[in-house]
Amino acid sequence: MVTRKEKREMEKEVNYLFELLKTQNHFFKNLNKLLKEVDDPRHQSYITYDTEVLLMMVILKNACNLKSMREMTNEFNKEECIKNLGKLLGNEDLEELPHYDTINDFLSRLNPAELERIRIDMIKKLFKKRCFDSYRINGEYWGIAIDGTGIFTFDKKHCEHCLRRVYKYTDKETGEEKTKTIYMHHVLEAKLIVGNMVLSVASEFIENESEDVKKQDCELKAFYRLTARLKDTFKKLPICLIADSLYACENVFKQCKANNWNYLFRFKEDRIKSITDEFQALKNMEEEEGKKANVVKIRESEQRGEITWVNDIDYRGFGVNVFECEVEDEKRKQKFTFITDIKITKNNAKKLMNAGRSRWRIENEGFNRQKNLRYHIEHASSQDYNAMKNHYLLTQITEIIMVLHEHGSKILRSMKKTIKEISSRLLEAFRRQTLTDEDIAQLGKPMQIRFT
Ligand SMILES: [Zn+2]
Repeated sequence: MVTRKEKREMEKEVNYLFELLKTQNHFFKNLNKLLKEVDDPRHQSYITYDTEVLLMMVILKNACNLKSMREMTNEFNKEECIKNLGKLLGNEDLEELPHYDTINDFLSRLNPAELERIRIDMIKKLFKKRCFDSYRINGEYWGIAIDGTGIFTFDKKHCEHCLRRVYKYTDKETGEEKTKTIYMHHVLEAKLIVGNMVLSVASEFIENESEDVKKQDCELKAFYRLTARLKDTFKKLPICLIADSLYACENVFKQCKANNWNYLFRFKEDRIKSITDEFQALKNMEEEEGKKANVVKIRESEQRGEITWVNDIDYRGFGVNVFECEVEDEKRKQKFTFITDIKITKNNAKKLMNAGRSRWRIENEGFNRQKNLRYHIEHASSQDYNAMKNHYLLTQITEIIMVLHEHGSKILRSMKKTIKEISSRLLEAFRRQTLTDEDIAQLGKPMQIRFT
């Protein structure tokens, strides 16, 4: 146990920036190099700042939880910040930091595929390090959850790629029926779920090709683009897709089979009626016969309940397996059903249930964190659509580093700081404590990181 006094003493010693760099360096030694090597769209004769300076500024802005680009320029306008950024990038000649207009101008022209490439490199490094192997579903599959969310909403047309939704309403004064159009940008995410950690591995923007398309883009269409990219990137990775009931349909089953992936989807009763009926009939038959072979009880400290399943239900040539979970804890009683192509057994039923339920983490740990606790992804850092996409991708890159840092750093764990506190301490360190040559030398040494 650490006493409060010891904690205060420890706190004084800790340089939050240095600690973050330790994590970054442990997992992604080549990050600076990758940022430096992006295909630079600028006219080479007018360049003042290298790409890694521009990109690292945004990563630090995100990590420090600064809401706007203007705030970044204000907060980072200190000698210490210039020194620190120069030091951590190995660019000691850095004399000034770029203004946010310079950065946004660059991001409006940078091809988002360049940042996608960096994220892929990072994720592949994590797989190679094998630090997450124990989190595989049933010891075999990597759980990748698919989920979409809205990021921007506007009253007026923002760009030709905006999604549109028309609302009908009654004018309060005249009683007239009127319509109102809102303009939006949405994104579909593929997130790797490892224990309590959620890491974005690919993002597909849901967007119209042009303003006059007959049918707008939608989550399911984006799904096929996203999964095609995933398969192309992680060719042999044993993936189990985790998603909501929308995805429980023939085409998606086909896609998973073709990719050699497994799936585990939430299954609402009205999604495919024939499957629901068959499941109920077979389950009842078994109960009448008093066999109850396909049932396991859940007896855990916080919850009680049972899982019932039926394997091999035929659906248009696909053998699907369905399981129903009834769980009760102190607060409430819940019932949910999942559909999967993984054969359900007494041994794996609970594991599958936990994996299926972990998708909700995307909502809580993933989107909530990025909207309300840090990053403010609903705040547009630029009005230019291409720059908006790049800002979004830089947020995902920052989040990968921060999640590993917060779960892996022994010092951070012992401090028990909230997400906001960690960010504000980081900002303080960046503005006040200058990194030394000794610090930088220390970064090159091997260290151990363990997740609990
Ligand atoms: Zn738009």
